[in-house]
Amino acid sequence: MCVKLTILGSGSGGNATYLECGKTRILIDAGLSGRQIRERLLKINRSPETLTGIIISHEHTDHIDGLAVIAAKLGIPVYTNRLTREGILEKFDKKFCFKIFQNGESFEIGDIEVEVFSVPHDAVDPTGFTFITNSGKIGFATDIGCVTALTAERFRSAQVLVVEANHDVEMLQNDPCRPWSLKQRIMGKHGHLSNESAAELIERTITENLQHITLAHLSQDCNRPELALKVINKRLQTIGATQITVSAASQDRPAPTIRLENGKVI
Ligand SMILES: [Zn+2]
Ligand SMILES: [Zn+2]
Repeated sequence: MCVKLTILGSGSGGNATYLECGKTRILIDAGLSGRQIRERLLKINRSPETLTGIIISHEHTDHIDGLAVIAAKLGIPVYTNRLTREGILEKFDKKFCFKIFQNGESFEIGDIEVEVFSVPHDAVDPTGFTFITNSGKIGFATDIGCVTALTAERFRSAQVLVVEANHDVEMLQNDPCRPWSLKQRIMGKHGHLSNESAAELIERTITENLQHITLAHLSQDCNRPELALKVINKRLQTIGATQITVSAASQDRPAPTIRLENGKVI
């Protein structure tokens, strides 16, 4: 069975990722507008109507903005934890079909086993994921303030990782537009992961299974894809893991689909 992963868009302007395994079709976060989610799914010949479920990592607008249009209107189940559900309901006065999980447990959506774990971020109960299928394992965490032993441990033995590489520390420090308080929030333990910290997470996680890394949630002002890729590739070179491919997700368009079959990225 072939697993397909497409990041439809990622960054502070909105996050949504499509994951398919057999007949199971899920959306990880719905932070682009409903229209954008539809348009970008159409680009890969899919539509919101056929989604099995939507998993929400946390209640920040850039992760739930399109949720009312997609989930409430179409009656698609929304998988999230209890506190995040409250956060969603504070933002949208709509009827959702919630499926509640607890961080630390795992559950199944069709052919995909989902492990959920807590990550440090300034939301009510933020979550990282691993998706386990017959074809392999994908680790997925954006919006993490710092590298934790739990995230590194959960990511271990994955074939594919989607990891936040939000900012270059120097670019963020020198950014003329952001007030110091916001910079402190972003750089803090419950903010966002820098390129260097993403490299640290990858180094702590790496096993011979790992074949592809997608960097996500890149800041438009305080990072550049080529810079983030350089930092990660340099670290992979240092640890002698240059066979691993690395790409950076875009805010504006779907990234190329990653295919995983029999434990191999194809
Ligand atoms: Zn975010
Ligand atoms: Zn967030």
